[in-house]
Amino acid sequence: MAASSLIKGFLDRLFPPRCVFCRRVIADRRDCVCERCSDTVRRNIVVKINGVVFCRGCAVPFIYDGLVRSALLRYKFRGFRHYAACFGSYIAECALKRFGAAFDLVTWVPVSAKRARQRGYDQAELLAQAVSQSLGIPAAAALIKTVDNPAQSAIKGAGARRANVKGVYLPSPDFPAAGLRVLLIDDVITTGATISEAARALLTAGAEEVFAGALARAK
Ligand SMILES: [Zn+2]
Repeated sequence: MAASSLIKGFLDRLFPPRCVFCRRVIADRRDCVCERCSDTVRRNIVVKINGVVFCRGCAVPFIYDGLVRSALLRYKFRGFRHYAACFGSYIAECALKRFGAAFDLVTWVPVSAKRARQRGYDQAELLAQAVSQSLGIPAAAALIKTVDNPAQSAIKGAGARRANVKGVYLPSPDFPAAGLRVLLIDDVITTGATISEAARALLTAGAEEVFAGALARAK
């Protein structure tokens, strides 16, 4: 037995791979979701999400409730950053089904520098990197968030949420998306205000088309 598989066997006993949704132990680390969850977790079956504009369509594999919601909260707020690979592969699979290989670049809706420092990572960036790896399409930062505005989750009403994000995204100085078809990644789509504003900023800066991708959307 090779040393690497010995180490892997040891790590699997010490930290057995668990389903990202229900956290049951699973046999194969590569699966990341148990059989039961892959049959029962609610999938998203719509192509168009009301409130999402400036995007050619949305690739969103799950509905944001129950086990998906708790998994995303662990990912964002409790340091389970390794979920990104699993989540990203679901978004990539969904984007391929919806749009084929219709894009040249993967990018993400950034958090402000202050928020990224507090959390230690930008959750949408990690998702975008994982999507990029699954699809074999490059990822690059195309937007920067200049304003540390209140979190969208603290604001009620679609109009107020649109106003809260208006103008908060600017193209990055070496804008890598000019003339390109871009897959824009965020973690959750709620009213669509955030991803629409980011898509608008990409188009204004010269992207050719924007497609939206996220792990989940609100019910
Ligand atoms: Zn499960």
